[in-house]
Amino acid sequence: VSVVNKIAAGEIIIQPANALKEMLENSIDAQSTHIEILVKEGGLKLLQITDNGTGINLEDLPLLCERFATSKLVKFDDLSSIATYGFRGEALASISHISRLSVITKTKESSVAYKAYYMNGKLCNSNFKGEGQPKPIAGKVGTQIIVEDLFYNIPSRLRGLKSKNDEYGKILDIIGRYAIHCGDVGFCCKKYGDPIQQLNTRPNLPLKERIRTVYGSAIANELLEVDTEYPELGLNKCSGMITNSNYNNKKKIQPVIFINHRLVTCEPLKRAINSVFQFFLPKDSHPFFYISLEITPENLDVNIHPTKREVRFLNEDEIIEIIVNNIHSVLSSVDS
Ligand code: ADP
Ligand code: MG
Repeated sequence: VSVVNKIAAGEIIIQPANALKEMLENSIDAQSTHIEILVKEGGLKLLQITDNGTGINLEDLPLLCERFATSKLVKFDDLSSIATYGFRGEALASISHISRLSVITKTKESSVAYKAYYMNGKLCNSNFKGEGQPKPIAGKVGTQIIVEDLFYNIPSRLRGLKSKNDEYGKILDIIGRYAIHCGDVGFCCKKYGDPIQQLNTRPNLPLKERIRTVYGSAIANELLEVDTEYPELGLNKCSGMITNSNYNNKKKIQPVIFINHRLVTCEPLKRAINSVFQFFLPKDSHPFFYISLEITPENLDVNIHPTKREVRFLNEDEIIEIIVNNIHSVLSSVDS
């Protein structure tokens, strides 16, 4: 069973950035306003994420890394909005099968923090052997998840990874995207042993400022606002920023798409937006855009595979056309 779990886990988490994304989303779901990430050797030696969210109750710790253990079923009342958030209760379980995972957490009701160690979905002792129990320690309200030696038991996965710098780059990229989208959260990312913060955003900055912090002023100065909706078709909100037709995205910064507050890919939307830009830009230029859609949860495809970030939704063609028309008018109003 443990081998099967290990293989399954290795399919969900294929690079350190996948683990990081899952943990970031957990911290955001826990209403954190500050999230700090520490990375050693591209996340392979250490991936540590510290938040100031709700924390985890002591009685929930034994099952925390059990597959399908999720506290979110109670928080979201209908099944389809649960589906919005992708697969349930598998992230920490998976990570515990392919790394040495430990957790320090404190709720505001608890007088102390607790530290717990996990191996293969179960609590273990601090050497990552045998059985163990959470131990009280000093700590602040919130949760710290420490992932060490990711893929230590999957040598083939380790060999297949890019350089540690590349893996670190992917981690920074994910954090940057969430920093743009989650305006009420501050994010800070550091490399172990390096005093310089590679990314540091404050909470409650306007969207343009956040984009400036993540991608620099060159891009932020050339941004135009997108804002539309069509609730009758299930598009409750579409907001974001696009670069104008003067901006040359030399760094080829990739588009950022959020649907219902999850970072996803949506190839048809991406293609359609890129094609509007072709009216305004020289061929093969690379516009940047950040688009956040809020789609009626029932309309989202619930059967997407966990490793796929591709999202489908009802009335897709019509909704994409609405967005594309809005972008077209935003771009033309500046052009003329
Ligand atoms: P899911 O997010 O799908 O519920 P996960 O495996 O990602 O599954 O997490 C399992 C559970 O662990 C969550 O439902 C949540 O209750 C708890 N949890 C994980 N990370 C945090 C965190 N940073 N703060 C509070 N609770 C957390
Ligand atoms: Mg999760």
